[in-house]
Amino acid sequence: MKSYRKVLSFHLPTRRGFVNITPQVEAAVAESGVSEGLVLVNAMNITASVFINDDEHGLHSDMEKWLEKLAPEKPYDMYAHNGYEDNADAHLKRTIMGREVVVAITQGKLDFGTWEQIFYGEFDGKRTKRVLIKIIGE
Ligand code: ZN
Repeated sequence: MKSYRKVLSFHLPTRRGFVNITPQVEAAVAESGVSEGLVLVNAMNITASVFINDDEHGLHSDMEKWLEKLAPEKPYDMYAHNGYEDNADAHLKRTIMGREVVVAITQGKLDFGTWEQIFYGEFDGKRTKRVLIKIIGE
């Protein structure tokens, strides 16, 4: 069995944003030499997510509004976590959107359903964060 590890780095200029990281994951699969196996992609920070959905800007706008309804950024003093940092909403948004995804690798390609793409979701940006890619298989 082969195993391959790669860490991606992100530094978004805004507090929140979604980045399609499918090309980086595809590149890692190619580098790994694995043709049949699994790839795990996870955020290495508790205020960021990795998730799978459609790369459609209307949907991303809907997600931003939905997350703001569920866990509004402000007022900061509504959260017990805030004080030293004002990022309680980012922890909650990360929990809603998830930590990681696992995708099958079949014949050297990501074995996606229709329109599936992998995204990095940032909820407390303007600083560097990491995403882990771990690939196992043969
Ligand atoms: Zn925090």
